[in-house]
Amino acid sequence: MRIDILTLFPEMCYAYLRESVIGRARKAGKVQIRCTDIRKYTQDKHRRVDDTPYGGGMGMIMQAQPVFDCFGALCKRLGKTPHLIYLTPQGKQLTQKRVKELARLDNIALLCGHYEGIDERVIEELQPEEISVGDYVLTGGELPALILADAVSRMLPGVLSDDECFEDESHFDSLLEYPQYTRPYEWHGRTVPEILITGHHENIKKWRRRQSLERTAKRRPDMLETAELDKADKEFLKQLK
Ligand code: SAM
Repeated sequence: MRIDILTLFPEMCYAYLRESVIGRARKAGKVQIRCTDIRKYTQDKHRRVDDTPYGGGMGMIMQAQPVFDCFGALCKRLGKTPHLIYLTPQGKQLTQKRVKELARLDNIALLCGHYEGIDERVIEELQPEEISVGDYVLTGGELPALILADAVSRMLPGVLSDDECFEDESHFDSLLEYPQYTRPYEWHGRTVPEILITGHHENIKKWRRRQSLERTAKRRPDMLETAELDKADKEFLKQLK
């Protein structure tokens, strides 16, 4: 899969993309993530990419021309039109379900706004999918784009090692993950649950499932509405009430 981030601050994104799991996955060719500097495409002789808002008001607005030409040049380079996503607090909130769907595409492009946002006309013209990372406002779309790129990349084959598998994790199946523990066995007078040191894999699996169900019921009961639950799960949840 290839992910292109269109931004005024490519180095801000590369600082993250060079490190840790995603950095290793990029080096190993498991995912391609490239950043394109929107400023390179401005036709303004002073390399300007923003201007004041019509109608007055605070801040600067990113102009339509550099954004449009930047995306056009990307399509030309790729020889196709990638699925374009504009990161915006006005978009639909990102979920693990949407992340899984996006991970099935070959190409996505992530458009990052900055300052007070982007001239509406280029959004109307390009018709991107609009995605938000939450009901709060950040200074730019770079962190949201990295959140999306990270979440999608870790769904791709070979990006996570076997021991970093995502299938048990929170939100994968509309459940929160069970509690996790590591050495030492005792810390600050607290010991690890006995079941986890029995080596009995079947019982451990059952205990973890129940912990997951209990946590989800307590913390995010809304998630249980879409979780796949078998008869034993439903009986266990009934007992909790
Ligand atoms: N004036 C815009 C509004 O009120 O909707 C907010 C602009 S924000 C300061 C600048 C840029 O940051 C946006 O264009 C968007 O790309 C990004 N951004 C900020 N918060 C975001 C969020 N919660 N989710 C996704 N992108 C966000």
